[in-house]
Amino acid sequence: MPDVPTILLNDGYGIPQLGFGVFQVPAEDTARVVGEALDAGYRHIDTAWGYMNEAGVGEAVATSDIARGDLFVTTKVWNSFQGRDKTLESFDASMTALGFDYLDLLLIHWPAPENGRYVETWETFVELRDSGRVRSIGVSNFQPDHIGRIIEATGVVPALNQIELHPYFQQRTLRDFHDLHGIVTEAWSPIARGRVADDPTIKSIAAAHERTPAQVTLRWEIQHGIVVIPKTVTPERIIANIDVFDFELGADEMASIDALDDVASGRMGPVPDDFNLA
Ligand code: NAP
Repeated sequence: MPDVPTILLNDGYGIPQLGFGVFQVPAEDTARVVGEALDAGYRHIDTAWGYMNEAGVGEAVATSDIARGDLFVTTKVWNSFQGRDKTLESFDASMTALGFDYLDLLLIHWPAPENGRYVETWETFVELRDSGRVRSIGVSNFQPDHIGRIIEATGVVPALNQIELHPYFQQRTLRDFHDLHGIVTEAWSPIARGRVADDPTIKSIAAAHERTPAQVTLRWEIQHGIVVIPKTVTPERIIANIDVFDFELGADEMASIDALDDVASGRMGPVPDDFNLA
């Protein structure tokens, strides 16, 4: 089994540095695909209320023989559920679907600043954490000003911020902000939705190590201390994407991938300040 390191969160809990993302995994396939991931050694699963597949994640956990305490599961509260009452409703629905008596990590999926409810949502997250039903609380797609506001309102620093991050959009300013505040950086779309497979720089590094471009990219993020949650429904990729702990990129190889950053146009997903899909 791959030996996945644990990253310490600012609340004392640990998160496996590599997890399995299930965005766009069809609900009817999720239990099987997550079951394959657990068999391959993944112990960290990233889902969301909005992915409509939490029940499949719960089924895979319930039918596996891995102890609940050896697993780390994240889910998220969708934009239309922000605000105290709706957040509690969303959390209850997620816990019922997952079939858990506690959750490892709960995230605000997007700040949706136009709605003006992320601070109240964060206050509710603090309540849920204090009740013991959630171990760690964090955010996703938050910018420094959003993070500043929730810290100011509650004094509670998010354990983690899950953001778009890959070789073409490296988020250095936000990573520096996270480091300053003790917030772990977690990358979504860590292999740029498969785009790295055709990248000449990454392909040449991959050839030198007899690895795939996806493996080299995940290794680059891991060596930068970033948590990664690649998604795949393809059995051989499920196995390959976690097999990244027995080789190392040299400083020159790290620098070549660092140089692929494209702050102006590398972003593939929505701009967090404008994204408010209900
Ligand atoms: P990703 O993991 O970078 O890429 C997934 C895509 O790459 C799929 O099309 C997959 O295809 C393909 N792929 C997987 N392994 C590969 C390999 N070894 N070689 C070549 N292609 C490969 O992108 P993502 O799904 O957008 O992001 C990962 C996870 O981040 C999501 O599942 C979700 O949990 C999370 N996420 C969070 C947010 C947020 O707003 N918080 C947004 C997006 C994603 P197949 O499945 O066909 O193999």
